[in-house]
Amino acid sequence: MSSSTYERELEVALDLAKQAGAVIAEAFDQAKHVDTKSTSVDLVTSTDKECERVILGGLREAFPSHSFIGEESHEGGGFSIGSEPTWVVDPVDGTNNFVHAFPFVCVCIGLLVDKQPVLGVVYNPVIDELYVAVKGQGATCNGKRIRVSQCASIRQAIVSTEFGYDRTAQGVAEMTGHVSRLLTAQIRGVRSLGSCAMNVCSVARGRLDAFFEGKNESFGPKPWDMVAAAIILTEAGGVMRDWQGGELDITSGRIMAANSPQLADEIIACLGGNS
Ligand code: MG
Ligand code: MG
Repeated sequence: MSSSTYERELEVALDLAKQAGAVIAEAFDQAKHVDTKSTSVDLVTSTDKECERVILGGLREAFPSHSFIGEESHEGGGFSIGSEPTWVVDPVDGTNNFVHAFPFVCVCIGLLVDKQPVLGVVYNPVIDELYVAVKGQGATCNGKRIRVSQCASIRQAIVSTEFGYDRTAQGVAEMTGHVSRLLTAQIRGVRSLGSCAMNVCSVARGRLDAFFEGKNESFGPKPWDMVAAAIILTEAGGVMRDWQGGELDITSGRIMAANSPQLADEIIACLGGNS
């Protein structure tokens, strides 16, 4: 598979993202039947399951030799990701938002080759934003080229984070401690959109300057939250990191997206004193 040609893969991913998006849009204002997963705040609905069925079914039919990871069909435990083309799917990122009809909800379809993100489609059908990137070809939203912001320091930055599913006293103290450190560093604003992929795509288009989330494999974003948006961000000129320092590991449960290495380093240093 050449790194410059994923035309067929992109065509299929776009079609399936739009199909799943229509399912989400149809259900968005309706009453939802909600079940819980790992904790009482980790939610799943019939829409998550239906969208995953549509997307994985379509991908398997189009690319039978590839591998697949989907949030709702993942068996739990760790991730064994090989070098073969591997599709990584979050049928609904922001399920809590979806349940509450808060409009930051998206479909994420990403493709790894040699364990690296090479293609990403993130589609929010509620506010109608379709983010697309292919490695080496730039990133777009609704067909228009997007770029990260020029923000150069925490004092001019709007940064988002998420509070995840950890409701232990220690976990909550760590998360609020991070926010406290950023505020004390005179950050311009802190946001929380409720969807990892929407946060990362918001950095990619320059309406946020950075985003960080997660603690470990148990409490933090998973590969399906990261892969599609990661290639969108890097193709828009941004950087993906581990907010505790070092490169992004999609199985670590920790993510940072920033407009530049400089801002990433400044935020990592600011957060670092908390541990
Ligand atoms: Mg998700
Ligand atoms: Mg999900």
